[in-house]
Amino acid sequence: MRPLYNLPTLLLGLFVGVSCRGITTREVGRQLFLSRRVVTEAAEFDGGVLVGSNGVIESVLTRESIDALLRNGDSSLQVFDGGNLALMAGAVDSHVHVNEPGRTSWEGFVTATRAAAVGGFTTIVDMPLNSIPPTTTLENLKIKAAAAKEEVFVDVAFWGGAVPGNEKEYPRMIEAGVVGFKGYLIDSGVPEFPHLEVEDIGPVFSALDGAAVVLAFHAELNDSRITTDCDNEYCTDPYLYNTYLATRPEALELDAVSLLVEYIEAYDVHVHIVHVSAEGVIPILEEARQKRLMKGNSRWRGGVTAETCHHYLTLSSEQIPPGHTEYKCSPPIRNITNKEKLWQYIEERRFDLITSDHSPSVASLKGPNFLTAWGGVSSVQFGVSLFWTEAKARGYSLSTLSHFLSAGPAKLTGLQRKGFLRPGYDADLIYFDPDASFVVTPEIIMYKNKISPYMNRVLQGQVVYTFLRGQLVASSGEVFEGPLGELLLSPAVLFN
Ligand SMILES: [Zn+2]
Repeated sequence: MRPLYNLPTLLLGLFVGVSCRGITTREVGRQLFLSRRVVTEAAEFDGGVLVGSNGVIESVLTRESIDALLRNGDSSLQVFDGGNLALMAGAVDSHVHVNEPGRTSWEGFVTATRAAAVGGFTTIVDMPLNSIPPTTTLENLKIKAAAAKEEVFVDVAFWGGAVPGNEKEYPRMIEAGVVGFKGYLIDSGVPEFPHLEVEDIGPVFSALDGAAVVLAFHAELNDSRITTDCDNEYCTDPYLYNTYLATRPEALELDAVSLLVEYIEAYDVHVHIVHVSAEGVIPILEEARQKRLMKGNSRWRGGVTAETCHHYLTLSSEQIPPGHTEYKCSPPIRNITNKEKLWQYIEERRFDLITSDHSPSVASLKGPNFLTAWGGVSSVQFGVSLFWTEAKARGYSLSTLSHFLSAGPAKLTGLQRKGFLRPGYDADLIYFDPDASFVVTPEIIMYKNKISPYMNRVLQGQVVYTFLRGQLVASSGEVFEGPLGELLLSPAVLFN
């Protein structure tokens, strides 16, 4: 591990008890984090962040205010000067499949949160499926929380699952602190998490009408073109990516979202579409949002939001080689024209956030056949750099990164102390070097199964330090002993 003092920057103070591996003391006093580039979702300036001994941001300061503060001389204040490294709010990934318990060989809380920490993600939100049991009841949420407790290196919040007939569980799960519920309109890929048929959708909306949590959908509809056997007119060669792509055309997404619009109009429920791949989804959602706003709906973005993922913004179908199912996910990565349209929506702020949809599996479930391979791309560790690689080349600011990777996911999930550099928020901070670059190799991957469509790619921008509530948890690809993460759930409900 690189020692702390081996920085391109100046350390004006030292952290008490912070060291690499094995040091257990974590006493941290009042701290001042400095940077020539403090970046918020809306601005960039020379200044710093003052953090209380409780790990909460006291104030965000300009350089002038800091100079005055330092002149007044608080000898107990610990100062960390990141120099030209950008100081930003820790990123939030609201779409991560951890899979523990039950499929822990695919991913576990230790590996997923260590990967998140080195990648600058200070909060992840776990998806309700692929673990066994799935998070579809309060009891199952307790089982998952017990598995995660004392294993997390960053903070972890949880989605609940919306499956046919589990509406009675919603109130107690909301009380326990889930950020919302996610349902599928198409086969989920695992038998213990059934999808919602059309007749199941109304009861879900009805149960959540007026609730303060989000109802998220995997929005594709079942279609006769979907197959795992290469035995119909659409299938020529199952080892070619385009064979898989043809089985999940854009229409599946458009039809699903069009179906949901009826319910958006009828109920006051915040509807969020996860992992939008087909660009045509966005205009449909915008029309639904506009109707709600015209009626005076006061929810954030009219309670109609959408995310896309790093793989849709980074990759395109044309570049996917035969047999390379590490690129397979659903909905699928589409062509370059579609990708450019997604970037236009980023430019126009018509998406609300960007996630990884980190959905790993063991290598044996991948294999070279695109029709039978597990669909899921792993990237919880690399989101900040993946986004910055494309965004930098397109001339975007670091504030754009903060907007989509920190503020947006925190707003969506209602995590009121996360995602922003603001007084009263947790001091979840990263120092980011936007000019650094690195190569993705198996050696640097910290999530469990070292599978990635980005292997051997050069990514731009590197997270150098990650702080969770003011405490250093990762530095230059190394994670400190901990784990210091917390489960963002109600302890009164879960552990009594
Ligand atoms: Zn997912």
